[in-house]
Amino acid sequence: ATMPPLLSAIANAGRHGVLVKSAVVMEQLGQVDAVALDKTGTLTEGTPRVTEVRPLAGAGLDAAALLRLAAAAEHASEHPLARAIVDAARARGLDIPAAGDFASTPGVGVTATVEGRTVTVGSPGRMLDAAGSRRATVVAAGLEDEGRTAVVVLVDGTTAGVLGIADRLRDEAAATVTALAELTGTGPLLVTGDNARAAARLATEVGISDIRAGLLPQDKVAAVQELAEAGRKVLVVGDGVNDAPALAAAHTGIAMGRAGSDLALETADAVVVRDELGTIPTVVRLSRAARRLVI
Ligand code: ADP
Ligand code: MG
Repeated sequence: ATMPPLLSAIANAGRHGVLVKSAVVMEQLGQVDAVALDKTGTLTEGTPRVTEVRPLAGAGLDAAALLRLAAAAEHASEHPLARAIVDAARARGLDIPAAGDFASTPGVGVTATVEGRTVTVGSPGRMLDAAGSRRATVVAAGLEDEGRTAVVVLVDGTTAGVLGIADRLRDEAAATVTALAELTGTGPLLVTGDNARAAARLATEVGISDIRAGLLPQDKVAAVQELAEAGRKVLVVGDGVNDAPALAAAHTGIAMGRAGSDLALETADAVVVRDELGTIPTVVRLSRAARRLVI
């Protein structure tokens, strides 16, 4: 028997490295007319590196001690920033002590007990207001102006330091943004939990003009719902636990597979397995071609 068009499109998508979970999804992909893209791990490669370690006077820690405590707190997190911090500590030959009472807040950061101290690592925007450290705010803003993601480390409530983390833009990011804009008739929206400075810098590089930064997971959902209420069928592309609610709220959700969190992969309607962003416009085109044969 000849394969029904949507099934052969699924097989074809698979050959391009995209796992489309059902024929319904394969059909829906061609209907999308708006796209919301996550930044870290989606437009960027998702293998960030720690580029700066800046201890602050007051907590009495040097760079190695700061990184060691941050890595211990991050050890149980699957966030790309967490992996960057743990890798940086290992690369410097630091022992990473065991941590207890681990808790993570998507879009904010992590906290854990390390050697009897409470260590918190996360977003300057979310943590520094409470901690009220002007010095840390200035250091973080300086790093963000250079396009870094800054994370602040608090030890027993004192700002102990700031880490600068850099991630590479995917080679195919700009071309994918252009292709998606052509397919949907409108430029993609950038939705990120990261800071506005780093987001604006990256958006300029890839050709995105519509940016929402500093978003919590539920804010990403609200951005998707706003478009849906305006009658749009929104494609969301993301990789993190923080993207899962937006992937669920989307008309169609696609997760980046390689560095993606389990929750994102399970929630999404399709998964980019081969880690090439350029396959997303390809599967939209495959869907449209199959729909022409079905209808
Ligand atoms: P994005 O939307 O760009 O993928 P996230 O929502 O995952 O980013 O994270 C937003 C911000 O929250 C990060 O830039 C960082 O400041 C903070 N953050 C989230 N998770 C962690 C973590 N495990 N360690 C440190 N900071 C974190
Ligand atoms: Mg992400």
